[in-house]
Amino acid sequence: MNRDILDISDGKLYGNNDMVKISCHDCAGCSSCCQGMGDSIWLDPHDVSQLTKNLGKTMEELLAKEVELHVEDGLILPNLKMQGEGDGHCSFLDEQGRCSIHSFRPGYCRLFPLGRNYEDEKLTYFVLKDACPAPNKSKVKIMKWLNVPNIKAYEKFLVEWHGITKRLRGYYEEHMEEEAVIKAINMQFLQIFYLTPYVEEDFYQEFEIRMKEIEKLLARI
Ligand code: SF4
Ligand code: SF4
Repeated sequence: MNRDILDISDGKLYGNNDMVKISCHDCAGCSSCCQGMGDSIWLDPHDVSQLTKNLGKTMEELLAKEVELHVEDGLILPNLKMQGEGDGHCSFLDEQGRCSIHSFRPGYCRLFPLGRNYEDEKLTYFVLKDACPAPNKSKVKIMKWLNVPNIKAYEKFLVEWHGITKRLRGYYEEHMEEEAVIKAINMQFLQIFYLTPYVEEDFYQEFEIRMKEIEKLLARI
């Protein structure tokens, strides 16, 4: 376990079958993790496939309002955009302070207040220290908390996604001075994983095809 995680967690790692004390009783009027989050709610391709399919919007349309792009270690990634006064709030937060897209909300929203740890191609979870202020939390199985259909395929996707983004970050770090190449890869990366609509019923199969495309691209550089 790396130091960063030890600093922000209780030091324990969990599998999706484990019970953790994080259940906040349906948030009970709190919406604190939907406000003032800056660019921290990153969206992966699974999130974008869910948002575009369920909202009937293209990624370009989402980028006009609810989503924005940010750069992380040279890699361009989308995140939920905070809107409105002060530090802002997510545009999917309704007037009653509830999530208007609860059934297809992004992975980071499902996860909170958990974090993900990747080691040797294995995904585990940790509890973010003091992240959720709800009192009297009860225990819940991580799998139930995430409430994602086909958790096995979802976690496999997350591990592969972590692997490819880590690889790209590593490449960018070593080739920092090659700005034009990095820009060209980023454009392709966005096109392949985010801008090209997800049309198949099985997201995971479609993702595998796109992984092959990026592998081909990386083999050429
Ligand atoms: S901070 Fe905790 S209680 Fe508040 S909205 Fe987020 S998960 Fe729910
Ligand atoms: S998508 Fe829903 S849960 Fe996630 S930040 Fe927005 S309102 Fe909150």
